[in-house]
Amino acid sequence: MNEIQLFCPATIANVSCGFDVLGLCLESVGDTMTVTKTPEKGIRITEIIGADLPLETEKNVAGVAALALIEALDPDFGFSISITKNIKAGSGIGSSAASAAGAVFGINHLLGSPLSTKELVQYAMQGEKLASGTAHADNVAPALLGGFTLVRSYDPLDIIAIKSPTELYATVIHPQIELKTKDARSVLKENISLKKATIQCGNLGGLISGLYTGDYDLIGRSLHDELVEPVRSILIPKFDELKAAAIAAGALGGGISGSGPSVFALSKGLTTAKRAGQVMAAIMKDTGIPFEVHVSAINPEGIKIIHVQ
Ligand code: ADP
Repeated sequence: MNEIQLFCPATIANVSCGFDVLGLCLESVGDTMTVTKTPEKGIRITEIIGADLPLETEKNVAGVAALALIEALDPDFGFSISITKNIKAGSGIGSSAASAAGAVFGINHLLGSPLSTKELVQYAMQGEKLASGTAHADNVAPALLGGFTLVRSYDPLDIIAIKSPTELYATVIHPQIELKTKDARSVLKENISLKKATIQCGNLGGLISGLYTGDYDLIGRSLHDELVEPVRSILIPKFDELKAAAIAAGALGGGISGSGPSVFALSKGLTTAKRAGQVMAAIMKDTGIPFEVHVSAINPEGIKIIHVQ
């Protein structure tokens, strides 16, 4: 094996009630990446198509994650990475995570898979640290493992794969405004009340239970964010209307995807998910802000191998 081509999926982090701990993997939105063995040691980013992102290894999340992994595994050769970006950076659907996860997955595979996919999460997190300042796992874990993932603990790292029902679909609308993750974090409150924490715990437990049992009503009732959405949603144009319209169109619920500006909804069935996309698009059209809509099944396997040679 000298070269591997991968599909690196987009992800939705937080999923309303799971701030920094819950994420899900999308099926139909993602980048492609090719990782190739090179005789020279080290990591080189040779090409990025579709986005203006740094090629310097230390400034690219794929490079930083890859460096963290080869430092641990110390192979006798190096790797070059070429990326075709379809996920816009700063969209809130895990653009940086897709690249960081793809880089470590590709290298590990070319080395004969010495580490499990779960063990790769900690290396991919180093890429997230470069992108947002914190080594969060709520995008890289679902990108690597697929489905829904829960970060039960960061120290020690404990990632749990969560089952989800097959008829669950995600709709994402991405208003193309710039919302820096740093700014989206700076509006958050340092302390929360016991009352709000209690409500959030109830909803997170409810969502996990609903996902396991396929109880769509419970999933809908639990998609409620007491902590972050009330302060962060102010930064997203038409947030309240978008969410209300998606729910009125039949979606189970929704919220901010990651740190925004994308807004997501979850629905039972593809037809409802598409309808949620249409009503959200109609609202966004009125603002004059350019936007994209994605409708996707939940991707149960995460990163996919397109080709190995
Ligand atoms: P998202 O909001 O979609 O999750 P992030 O905020 O996680 O996106 O990451 C975007 C930031 O990471 C940008 O500042 C971008 O310049 C930086 N970055 C560095 N390398 C990459 C890469 N390979 N892919 C995407 N973003 C990258």
